[in-house]
This record gives sequence, C-alpha cells and structure tokens, in this order.
Amino acid sequence: MKFKNKVAVVTGASRGIGQAICVAFARESATVVGVARSDLAETETAVKNAGGNFIAHNADLGTGTQKESAEVIAQILAKAGRIDVLITNAGIIRRAPAKDFSEADWNAVIATNLNSPFFLMQAAGKWWIETGRAKSPENSRLKIVNIASLLSFQGGITVPAYTASKHGIAGVTKALANEWAKERINVNAIAPGYIATENTQALRADAARNRAILERIPEGRWGAAEDIAGGCVFLASGDSDYLNGAVLNIDGGWLGR
Ligand code: NAP
Repeated sequence: MKFKNKVAVVTGASRGIGQAICVAFARESATVVGVARSDLAETETAVKNAGGNFIAHNADLGTGTQKESAEVIAQILAKAGRIDVLITNAGIIRRAPAKDFSEADWNAVIATNLNSPFFLMQAAGKWWIETGRAKSPENSRLKIVNIASLLSFQGGITVPAYTASKHGIAGVTKALANEWAKERINVNAIAPGYIATENTQALRADAARNRAILERIPEGRWGAAEDIAGGCVFLASGDSDYLNGAVLNIDGGWLGR
C-alpha cells in the first residue's frame, strides 16, 4: 500500500520494462498513468489484476520538444490531478557502424531517450515547484527515476546515439538532483543490465553475441523486466528519501566484473 492515493507516471508502458514497472506500482496500490504510442489495454489489464488503477495516455514522445512534453504533463495532470512519481522509461535503440550512422537515426534516438525525458522532468518539476507542493502540509516528495543503461558508463557496440543519450541522461539526473533536492524532489536513475525485451531481441538472436553476453554476467542469465521494477519502487518510495543523483546498476553484476 506504499502508493495508495499516489499517482505514478510511467513512459514506455505498453510492453517490456515499462509494463513491469506499472505492475509493480499497482501492487503497491498506486494509480498508474501509462504513456506510449500503441494500445495500452494489455498493461491496463495487468495493472488492474495487480490491484492498481490505470489511466492510459497515448502520446508520441519521439519529437522530444519542450512544447509537446509540457502538453503531455498538463494532460496527465488534468486526468490524474497530481503526479507523485515520474518514471522516464520510453526508449529506442538504432544499430549501425559509426561511419554509416544516419542523421535521422541519431536525431530520433537523442529526441526520444534524452530530450523527451529532460522536458518531461522540466514540466513536472515546474508544476511541483510553482504550485508550492514542496511546502505543502502533506510533506510529500516528487520522485523521478530515469531509466539509463550500462551504456551510461560503457561505449557499446555500433550504437553511438544510444550511448550518447544514456550518458546524457545519467548526467542530467545528477544536474537536476543538485538543483531540486531543496524542493523535495529526488532525481535518480536505474542502469539496467541486459534485459530480455523486444529492445534486445537482435542480441539474443545472434548466437555469438548472446553467448558472449551471458558469459560476462555473473548471475549467468538475462535479466527480466521485473528485476528492474523493484528498484523503481524503492527509488520512488519513502525508503530512499536521502538518495539523490544516484545511478543504480541492476545488471546481475555486469559492471562489477
Ligand atoms: P521495449 O520493449 O522496446 O519498450 C520500449 C517502450 O518505449 C515501449 O512501451 C514503447 O511504446 C515506448 N516508446 C518507444 N518510443 C516511443 C515514443 N516515441 N513515444 C512513446 N513511447 C515510446 O524496450 P525495453 O527493453 O523495455 O526498454 C525500456 C527502457 O529501458 C529504454 O529506455 C531502454 O533504453 C532501457 N534499457 C533497456 C535494456 C534492455 O536490456 N532491455 C537495457 C538497458 C536499458 P510504443 O512503441 O507503444 O510507443
């Protein structure tokens, strides 16, 4: 019941890690606002079965503009009345050698993975600060969790835009934590390891890459989307109020190797 009467907004909620995050918040009785371009019916059913309320919000976060991001936050506030938790999880990856990497792919990845999370955080933070919630008697906090990556720390293989976006989001996490801690806003990130979702389908289909990846993971298996969801609940709960500007690796031990 950690999130009873609280609203958790999760972008990229239609499948994969985002869907598992929605279910984890539902188990703690949250009202979950799921954002994605495609149909959210499957997530809605899973959330309701887990005991949460669900509000679907279809939006394309792929332009990453300030104006559209502010509209998304305004529309969510109109539907849900408040935001207590913002998880910026929607993300894309494009693979090509650096010498052939197209401008269109570069811009699409940066817009979705870096510009959109920043402007969503900006709009949510602005609402929180300007409505005086930091000083409200409720004494609550705004909890923001950005989904980063191992490629917030490493270079990756033929995914230069993705690596740039994930290094960027780790930096922005720290920048906003510095600025907003005094406003009772926590801004942290999770760096998932190799998680079995659509995003990593190409890697698992490549026998040599799949073997090399598994050999390096101390836990000896691909992560599940649910492995990331528990960390989100922790970073959004009162158990982590003194944690700010951190990037939490949930990677089966990969980075410690
Ligand atoms: P996924 O299965 O491909 O799901 C991506 C989600 O993002 C979908 O719900 C998708 O919804 C949404 N999305 C993508 N583009 C969007 C757009 N323009 N507007 C709105 N929603 C959009 O990916 P995943 O593996 O769950 O990844 C989730 C996050 O974790 C990403 O940020 C990814 O970089 C990060 N991550 C994943 C791994 C991994 O191993 N899987 C590792 C490290 C980090 P629609 O298509 O319905 O819009």
